[in-house]
Amino acid sequence: MAAPKKKIAVMTSGGDSPGMNAVVRAVVRMAIHMGCDAYCVYEGYEGLVQGGDLIKRMQWNDVRGWLSEGGTLIGTARCMAFYERPGRLVAAKNMILHGIDALIICGGDGSLTGADKFRAEWPSLLEELVANGQLTKEQIGPYQHLNIVGLVGSIDNDLSGTDATIGCYSALARICEMVDYIEATASSHSRAFVIEVMGRHCGWLALMAGVATGADFVFIPERPRDRDWKADMSTVVRRHRELGKRKTIVIVAEGARDKDGTKITPEEIKDLLADKSEGGLALDTRITTLGHVQRGGTAVSYDRTLGTLQGVEAVRAVLEATPETETCFIAINENKIVRKPLMKAVAETKELSKAVDAKDFEKAMGLRDTEFADQYRSYLTTTNVLVEDNKLPQEQRMRIGFINVGAPAGGMNAAVRAAVAYCTSRGHEPIAIHNGFAGFARHHGDKPVGAVRPFNWLEVDGWASKGGSEIGTNRELPSESGMELIANLIEQYRFDALFLIGGFEAFHSISQLRKARDEFPSLCIPMALLPATISNNVPGTEYSLGSDTCLNELVNYCDKIKQSASATRRRVFVIETQGGRSGYIATLSGLGVGASAVYTPEEGISLEMLNADVNHLKHVFQHDKGQSRAGRLILVNEKASKVYHAKLIADIIREEAHDRFESRESIPGHVQQGGVPSPMDRCRAVRLAIKCIQRLETFGKNSPNHIKKDHESTFVIGIKGSEVAYTPMVELEENDTDWPNRRPKAAYWLDMRSTVDILGGRPEYPKPG
Ligand code: ATP
Repeated sequence: MAAPKKKIAVMTSGGDSPGMNAVVRAVVRMAIHMGCDAYCVYEGYEGLVQGGDLIKRMQWNDVRGWLSEGGTLIGTARCMAFYERPGRLVAAKNMILHGIDALIICGGDGSLTGADKFRAEWPSLLEELVANGQLTKEQIGPYQHLNIVGLVGSIDNDLSGTDATIGCYSALARICEMVDYIEATASSHSRAFVIEVMGRHCGWLALMAGVATGADFVFIPERPRDRDWKADMSTVVRRHRELGKRKTIVIVAEGARDKDGTKITPEEIKDLLADKSEGGLALDTRITTLGHVQRGGTAVSYDRTLGTLQGVEAVRAVLEATPETETCFIAINENKIVRKPLMKAVAETKELSKAVDAKDFEKAMGLRDTEFADQYRSYLTTTNVLVEDNKLPQEQRMRIGFINVGAPAGGMNAAVRAAVAYCTSRGHEPIAIHNGFAGFARHHGDKPVGAVRPFNWLEVDGWASKGGSEIGTNRELPSESGMELIANLIEQYRFDALFLIGGFEAFHSISQLRKARDEFPSLCIPMALLPATISNNVPGTEYSLGSDTCLNELVNYCDKIKQSASATRRRVFVIETQGGRSGYIATLSGLGVGASAVYTPEEGISLEMLNADVNHLKHVFQHDKGQSRAGRLILVNEKASKVYHAKLIADIIREEAHDRFESRESIPGHVQQGGVPSPMDRCRAVRLAIKCIQRLETFGKNSPNHIKKDHESTFVIGIKGSEVAYTPMVELEENDTDWPNRRPKAAYWLDMRSTVDILGGRPEYPKPG
């Protein structure tokens, strides 16, 4: 006889956070896909304690369209009863009565602490239930071990051990949107604004918002100023005003405190900024408390993807667990989804709060992840541009040429701004080369004006949230501009290093420059590439600046398109995405919107695939009893096939549908480059740009011969798995680059295609070729 089906339940608990619905959808569908029964526990632990209808069996279609909904559709609650053993006893009984074998909980550290307590007590709860006659030995027989997996859903990003919690980037997006709005009015009236954001014990939101928006000053609980914060803030704000800034933005976390542990309130900050006494700043100052808008709205692309991938991983973890397996939660480190021991993370989180309370701020920062500490340093260097003690000795200072190559991508300007601020703080000379190599080459000789010029701090300081490329970008390669000319210009301008920001063209450019070193000694200088392209196709990194902005645009676009079908219901949209010969954005946006199919250049499109997908759609519409009022989406990359373009695919579907449903193509085009860059792109731009310049510094002004021999001196910075890596160009050129297809040979995200298929219910089909 076949073993009984496993019953897996999912629950959301604590404060709601965007992306929780993605988790529930992923767990329900993955569980069903794996042959299990899926359940939802409504209203958090309250649902377990009350039982009955609050523990509900879910079917595949019950979670349709959930990716684009905000909050949590299965409800959440603070449950006092679950804090006490009697509450947990009833919860255990209800779980057994419903036959639940495993519980996946998405919530904050409180919810996960409760979960672990429940798991630890489980055997004794069962004993008690039998002893007091509420359940029989036979009833508890199959449930000797409670199988629990945690997912961290919280807007604060306050759990140790994971770089991001599900929901934190959506909250950050809301905050940055609000700060961007406030900046416009602040600048108009030359005002100061004190903006209070959430975070009682964790300053992640405040810090990242400060980095992303280029705020003048930030207050976080983990790291008060060593000196008097009032003097520090006044100095920084005064310097920025003296340099000509018309606005002052101060971001303060709810839990901000000074070095003695005393709370810092927005009112105190305002009083200081508005102080009209002699020597005071006398700024017209307002306070804005953002409050619940920060929880709000639909999840950004990243949270949908994170919730989905972690939900799938949680189901796998549940199914692989044995009674000996330690209870885990699903974390993400840089770009890698990993299982980690739950209790260690909860204990470290508690330790961190205690360290803040005990004013042990070194320890508190040490318990935050590397990215947090990095960003704190980035923030310090980008706001204190005039600090003298950070400067390098004269002989180590460099003239660094900045150049953007390729199409614009979100975060390019934030990267330039941060690198300029860092260079200034170290005494380097950052120089803008306008309009890529083409611009560099065109304005040489007797009309050098404009093409190459030093940056102006004030001008650059306003670029943190700007889209596009302020210094101008161009696709032309150095070979097309004339390698000899470029080499001569580099010599003429006495550059000690080059900092390139761009996509595959930038990669190709730096490769050409490196290879031409034998011929042109002026090219024997260190060169860094920070990948920035919506296509995310640069070898040496799993993430390029701009790709997150692009995914948000695509996901928003698809949500709207889907909704537009609500009147007709029976419509399939075939959406053509950009991405060159990389299917990254098609696949990731497919995950974020729940596409019925994704077509990528890596895989190609065959008639069999189209046939299988058309048959699948026929089946879906035949069985759609009108539960959902939204259309279905197919995402097709612009270069997935030479023949089957979006329009042709839509025509084929329409023809085959025989009026049972409709099909339309839709091409978002350049909208995909995005308007305002996403906070993730902005923050990563700051962090990675500063790291690039720091790396360039290590080569200093070594001799051309030394530089030429040192393979590391031309490199790509990137995120690889759980690390930030600097990979030498020579290695990437030879081993990792698929030159004809202009993409890396191996792409980490290829496996995600199968997740899109599984969760979209797509059938297996014959692979092309
Ligand atoms: P957020 O990050 O939004 O605060 P959270 O999960 O930390 O989320 P809490 O209110 O702390 O939110 O916890 C949610 C629920 O988890 C509580 O209402 C309670 O039912 C349960 N819970 C929290 N801590 C414990 C605990 N120590 N023991 C048992 N149950 C707990």
